[in-house]
Amino acid sequence: MRPPIVVVGGGLAGIAAAIRLGDANERVVLIESKKKLGGRATSFVDQRTGEVLDNCQHVLMGSCTNLLDLYERLGVMESVEWHSRVWWANPPREPDVMEPGWIPAPGHFSTSFLKLKFLATEDKRAIARAMWQLVRLGREGRARWRGRSFGEFLIQTRQTVAARRLFWEPVITSACNVTCDRTDAFYGMYVFQQGFLQDSWSPVMGLPSRSLGSLYDPAEAIIQAGGGELRMGVSALALAFDGRRITGVVTDEGMIEASAVISAVSPDRLAKLCSQTLRAADSRLSRLNEFSFSPILGVHLFFEQPIMRTPHLVLPGRATHWLFDKGLDGQGRSHVHAVISAADEWIDLEESEIVGRVMNDVHWALPQSRGLHPVAFRSIKEKRATFACIPGIDEIRPRAVRDGIRGGVDNLMLAGDWCASGWPATMEGAVRSGYLAAHGIVEAIGLVADVPPARFARFLGL
Ligand SMILES: Cc1cc2nc3c(=O)[nH]c(=O)nc-3n(C[C@H](O)[C@H](O)[C@H](O)COP(=O)(O)OP(=O)(O)OC[C@H]3O[C@@H](n4cnc5c(N)ncnc54)[C@H](O)[C@@H]3O)c2cc1C
Repeated sequence: MRPPIVVVGGGLAGIAAAIRLGDANERVVLIESKKKLGGRATSFVDQRTGEVLDNCQHVLMGSCTNLLDLYERLGVMESVEWHSRVWWANPPREPDVMEPGWIPAPGHFSTSFLKLKFLATEDKRAIARAMWQLVRLGREGRARWRGRSFGEFLIQTRQTVAARRLFWEPVITSACNVTCDRTDAFYGMYVFQQGFLQDSWSPVMGLPSRSLGSLYDPAEAIIQAGGGELRMGVSALALAFDGRRITGVVTDEGMIEASAVISAVSPDRLAKLCSQTLRAADSRLSRLNEFSFSPILGVHLFFEQPIMRTPHLVLPGRATHWLFDKGLDGQGRSHVHAVISAADEWIDLEESEIVGRVMNDVHWALPQSRGLHPVAFRSIKEKRATFACIPGIDEIRPRAVRDGIRGGVDNLMLAGDWCASGWPATMEGAVRSGYLAAHGIVEAIGLVADVPPARFARFLGL
């Protein structure tokens, strides 16, 4: 019997690749060094609070067509709550709301945008000017900005200080996990063109309504149905290479022979699995050490009474970017989750200092919470949460399959959110990379189509 396809890494990229191959009746062995699936998008039992907590709130959008396809295959689509409204804190007033209205895309946000009170008229004028540029640039114009910073685009479109601080920075930092000046303009533009402007479904926000970790429970049965298996708590130590092909994966439980290998680990981990000979044989492996990473901080707060009146809240201009109302926990306490992206300045802080700073922002955003303090908390620092989507990043993101011109190893596929997927570091990017890697083995496996732009948006250039 032909040896199985070995997938190394049980994050979203590895799960996506294994599920598609399992569905295609390919025998897959998925190895994951931890005892649970999900990698950076997962849950754990918190010893302190006794609660199952997500490492961080994970947000998806209507535009995440491949992630949604994976959820569909896992049978967990009903566990996504959809929110077309986004609330922006504007104390002491009630939060402002942005939501798609009746005007066709790309003008669908204009009615609610004009009503926003946290932005002054000159800020709105500047933002509208940049949005119009984004529409007119289209995909070709966006491609020409590759390698430059999104901050440059904001300067070129004469953004006000407030527009940048209150609008562009919170959106870009949350989506790309680096600030506007550190974001490759291609990806900053992608967020707005493809995520907000081109149609009214793409910006609708999805929030998993159950723990992230539980979303992957059906994966094992699907992989087994294709004759494959899941090996948890098994670490890959090296990729065995005979000078031409990968012959297997050396693990801490011995060698697993492989007809093909999909690496779905981070670039630094992959570098450790490859010999010098292998790296020399495949140009995709030559720049693995050049990736830099950006941290995210998630803070779980538990209160004796509810403090939020909206399911979520953006905190424009504050260090804390988002608050999410997670409902009541198992002990009847109100659970609020705070998220700080690009959290470099927070990483060395003590937990008490972190909670103090976040609570300042909570009290600012939710005046009704002033005087209230959490009865329990848990902060989670993810120092290497995502690769940094900095200008020029596409020069080092490798493709899933060997390069037709520069060559490479035929039966080694690369996956992971850091690989070339056209997306910033997101769950959608990870799933796309997994599907692309699976396509390298079974040609019939492909990506799910993007949400098409609305007719008027297309007419205008998007
Ligand atoms: C705090 C935080 C918040 C985020 N928020 C969002 C969000 O709101 N929306 C969004 O779309 N994305 C978000 N992301 C990004 C998203 O989580 C990632 O892009 C995605 O999960 C990456 O998946 P992956 O499979 O590429 O990598 P990973 O999840 O890193 O998976 C790699 C897996 O490989 C395993 N592994 C490593 N080495 C070995 C080895 N030697 N042998 C076997 N297994 C190994 C690891 O244990 C891990 O499970 C967030 C990330 C973080 C950390």
